Amino acid sequence: MQLTDMPVRHRRAVASSETAREINRDILLHAIHRHQPVSRADLARLTGLQPSTVSVIIGQLINEGWVVAGSLGRLPRGRRPTFVTLNDRHVTLAIDLRPGKANLAVVDINGKILGRETVAFEIKAGSTPEEARAAIAHIARAARSLRATYSDRVFQGLGVSVSGRVDQRTHRLVFSPNAPWGQIDLYAELQQVLDTPIEMENAANACLVSERWFGNFGDSSNMIAISVSEGIGAGVLADGRVVRGKDDMAGEFGHMPLEETGPICGCGSVGCWETFASNRAGLRYYHELAPESTLDSFHELLELAVKGDIRALRSIDKMMTYLARGLAMLAAGLAPEVIIIVGDCTALWTRIRPLLESQLIAKSFTPHTPRVVAAMDGDAARLRGAAALVLHKVLFRQTDFGLRHEHEGKRTGSKPVAAHV
Ligand SMILES: [Zn+2]
Repeated sequence: MQLTDMPVRHRRAVASSETAREINRDILLHAIHRHQPVSRADLARLTGLQPSTVSVIIGQLINEGWVVAGSLGRLPRGRRPTFVTLNDRHVTLAIDLRPGKANLAVVDINGKILGRETVAFEIKAGSTPEEARAAIAHIARAARSLRATYSDRVFQGLGVSVSGRVDQRTHRLVFSPNAPWGQIDLYAELQQVLDTPIEMENAANACLVSERWFGNFGDSSNMIAISVSEGIGAGVLADGRVVRGKDDMAGEFGHMPLEETGPICGCGSVGCWETFASNRAGLRYYHELAPESTLDSFHELLELAVKGDIRALRSIDKMMTYLARGLAMLAAGLAPEVIIIVGDCTALWTRIRPLLESQLIAKSFTPHTPRVVAAMDGDAARLRGAAALVLHKVLFRQTDFGLRHEHEGKRTGSKPVAAHV
């Protein structure tokens, strides 16, 4: 973790001793996560904190049940240090809400998916609030059953990843053009069945948090996650903070007007980036090339492309050309170090990666083009992202990547569990 992860107010002010303790606690949690199993001496070396400070904070974390002292280390001589790890009894429920299906999972504190299932439903943009409510009740009951099968674990809450934008003050979906969830109080419907703390976020933002906590880019302060599915969503981490904008609406680059004309978008406009670069666009390009085809899902299109079908490949290439065009705009405007692509299209990564990178390089005005990487299992990335939202809220006191609103006040952490389990 870098100092730039801290909210600005903590960098410019003289930190109170409590604030300093909390920052050190966050730093140690990150270090344990990254290097576990790890000894207290190594933690002191890795973080630059005093060994005595490390011991006091580790003692607290053990008492709170977040950390367990486990196996003994092996040194050639001298005493054998005790290694500490995060306590993987802590888990969260995760729901990734997609048009037509919801993926559910139980995810532990290290991002390991312990159990997973999918609930399918017939819901689309034009569905009624009653239909949406019935689908959510169905999903919530399935999540409750999944939770019950892991009753030996300590559940910290429910993380929900959605395609729209969520106003974190009201917990309402403020923008969800491709699904009807905005018509109902999703948060209240889930709360009613599951009775647990809930964090709800845009899927791309959730993936950013997941990359910071579970992924390979824990030290990167400038990242963009692009979720490519029925639409296109973006999550932007700039200078260590998730960009939120007014009413948490930032990141809707999918509705950036790329062309003057084109198909009508779910938002009501025309020419939006997502009408040219989403899964639906890929499918449309295929039907333009193969009007006789009855193929009706992006999944089937991908299967054809993987088999080498030339028209399927050309459709995906066209979709990627448009994806790259939008990415070049984002790269020029935001200077990310990494762009993470989340979506089914990454099944063809060896083909699409060079295409995206070459276009980014061609349009770049600096020699520093961002790395383009794939969250290879897009479903897992979104589920881990949903879980990471909850973990961040309960684990960290000062590190929030801009996810916490000022009005939420201070986090109190979660219920501690027995230290030795
Ligand atoms: Zn649009």
